[in-house]
Amino acid sequence: MKQELMQAEKMNVVSQLAASVAHEIRNPMTSVRGFMQLLQKEELTKDQQFYINISIEELDRAQEIINQYLALAKPQIDQYETIDLTSLIQQSIDVMQSYAILNSIHIKQEVESSLEIEGLKLEVQQVFINIIKNAIEAIKSDGEIEIAGRKLSNGFISIQIKDNGVGMTKDQIKKLGSPYYSTKEKGTGLGLTVCHQIVKQMGGRILIKSELTKGTCFTINLPAYKKKEEGYTP
Ligand code: ADP
Ligand code: MG
Repeated sequence: MKQELMQAEKMNVVSQLAASVAHEIRNPMTSVRGFMQLLQKEELTKDQQFYINISIEELDRAQEIINQYLALAKPQIDQYETIDLTSLIQQSIDVMQSYAILNSIHIKQEVESSLEIEGLKLEVQQVFINIIKNAIEAIKSDGEIEIAGRKLSNGFISIQIKDNGVGMTKDQIKKLGSPYYSTKEKGTGLGLTVCHQIVKQMGGRILIKSELTKGTCFTINLPAYKKKEEGYTP
């Protein structure tokens, strides 16, 4: 049984205020991170090196949380462009490749060429990155992620991201997309909320199929780009 990713509508209110705060604290954080990196170049004891590494990691984590909030609060203005989804998927895989290799995970892909949609490029890429990241984290180590993309006959493009990780129970699937729902020690629980928001805004939807201990498949369906003259039926 497939379940659609839904979420509570209250999210907008939560995100607007948080996003304005997020903007303000980005700069001081970047500056702190820069000084931490300078310190790393000094002669340090093992302990000191360790503390600085943790500080930088935690700053990066805070940055990730802020980015997720900002993505949620993006003004919904029409700046759509035609996106070559085939190469955008490849770019997203490239971004996540080092994280995958670090966890001994192989990413396989079979994406049709010249898949095109209309939307916001960076946002769509964020959807892929968030879902691939979750897949890697669900496998932990030694597994495989399969990414497939094709055009459907109903005018939609379907992208599947399948992992052989821990999988989810029915109850877990139902909770997906609720802000702050996370089973990870250092999770934000915002990744899928962001994905849902972005895909919904572009007229698409996300479907989830998962089985505990077997794995999970996320399907992202987005309306294919239609050339203007194709819309004409006499
Ligand atoms: P986070 O990754 O910060 O926990 P997300 O919104 O990205 O937040 O995901 C929410 C939760 O959904 C995760 O904590 C995890 O429990 C579950 N989840 C998401 N993707 C998968 C997957 N591919 N396999 C198993 N569980 C998943
Ligand atoms: Mg996530």
